[in-house]
Amino acid sequence: MPELPEVETVRRGLMKLIIGEEIAKVSLYYDKIVENADKGKFAADLEGEVFQNVLRRGKFLIFQTDHYDLVSHLRMEGKYALVDGVDPQNKHVHVVFEFESGKSLQYQDVRKFGRMMLLPRDTALHTYKGIIQLGPEPTPETFDATTFYNELHKNHAVIKPLLLNQKIVVGLGNIYVDEVLWKSKINPSLKASDIDRRHSNTLHKATIETLEEAIQHGGTTIRSYINADGQTGEHQNHLNVYGQKGQPCPRCKTPIDKYKLAGRSTHFCPKCQPLPDYKVSVIGITGGIATGKSTASLYLTSQGYTVIDADKIAHQILELPEIIERLEQSFGPTILTEQGLIDRKKLGAIAFVSEKEIAKLNAITQPLIRKTILEEIAKEKQTQIQEGKKNKIIFVDIPLLFEMNYEKEFDKIIVLSTDEKTQITRIKQRDNITKKQAQDIINRQLPLATKAAKADYVIDTTGLEAQTQAQLKNTLKEIL
Ligand SMILES: [Zn+2]
Repeated sequence: MPELPEVETVRRGLMKLIIGEEIAKVSLYYDKIVENADKGKFAADLEGEVFQNVLRRGKFLIFQTDHYDLVSHLRMEGKYALVDGVDPQNKHVHVVFEFESGKSLQYQDVRKFGRMMLLPRDTALHTYKGIIQLGPEPTPETFDATTFYNELHKNHAVIKPLLLNQKIVVGLGNIYVDEVLWKSKINPSLKASDIDRRHSNTLHKATIETLEEAIQHGGTTIRSYINADGQTGEHQNHLNVYGQKGQPCPRCKTPIDKYKLAGRSTHFCPKCQPLPDYKVSVIGITGGIATGKSTASLYLTSQGYTVIDADKIAHQILELPEIIERLEQSFGPTILTEQGLIDRKKLGAIAFVSEKEIAKLNAITQPLIRKTILEEIAKEKQTQIQEGKKNKIIFVDIPLLFEMNYEKEFDKIIVLSTDEKTQITRIKQRDNITKKQAQDIINRQLPLATKAAKADYVIDTTGLEAQTQAQLKNTLKEIL
């Protein structure tokens, strides 16, 4: 089927062949080629007319004579040929324009799907139904990148069929749409609204360039297309994906694949044009004091996973001037260091004395901490999707997961747990405090058993580090 570059090539050929030719006689052998045909009138109207110009809009040719626009659509296999005399032997010739010069222009169409329509001069572009619903021509002057992006952005349809319908831009038929999507690294089955500005811009540019290149090559001849001079195009020698199933992708050498999409054969590179899998698992890791969270985080990081550290975020928030100011107002200037920063130990000593004081502290810091954690998760999700990572997973190490009601932010929750004796031993060693003090700290926290009961996975960190790591590995397997 001729696409825009082929029709443009036909137009350019016709311009060389028929401009200035006066029509002596028109013979119509298959009426249905002409829409609303009054066979006699169609012929009579055109006799004596001179071909002045041939325009193209989308895949419509518009032959302009002194008084008429003759709209012609080649559909599947329509072709024009200029011959000397008339060749009535060819049963596929349905319309013949005989010229005063003795030559004639023949319209041939094996499948008989092509159509013509005669309209008053200079009206086709603005009135012909098939033409007025077309999108812009794929040229820098008429096809605007921002408008294009906005159209895609609001459209939830699948990108390839959407481009094929010619309403956003004309010229992308089944061959060229596969080519431009490959050039833009966009999967043909992607939803238009999921295409970001950068890919939209690439697609816009590729559309203009690819169609222009194909025109320069005289179009693409896959089966039957020949131009008005009877020549084939040569753009078929420049195709990257169309008809290249099994051939190495010119960019990454992965074999080109082919599938049916909305009834059309669709070619793409599975590596360059992956269908993004948007599911990123967000896993919360929590536990009690000295239950081995940081050891687990270190292990996950060493395995290449992203671990967002909620404590680190909390510390950064405590360095923000507006937060320092509010904390000072609530808890007094003694919580500040000489440099005017928060002394976390002193703040803890003042704030962690009663439920009421803790609530006061949380009211100041937690909203911003939550906002920042959620932003980091969203940012990391975006990164992993764009990188097309296979196992998309984000861990968030978050001590107060249950206390601050983060449950619904996570797909799965891992609780690291150990017995109280181990906890106390670890705290005593780490903080150099008494057993009683360590016990007090534990008692102030939500009991580990309560947390474990709410968890999807509980990992016992009592044993050796290697044993903890083995449990983490198994848990990961289950999650992925
Ligand atoms: Zn590739």
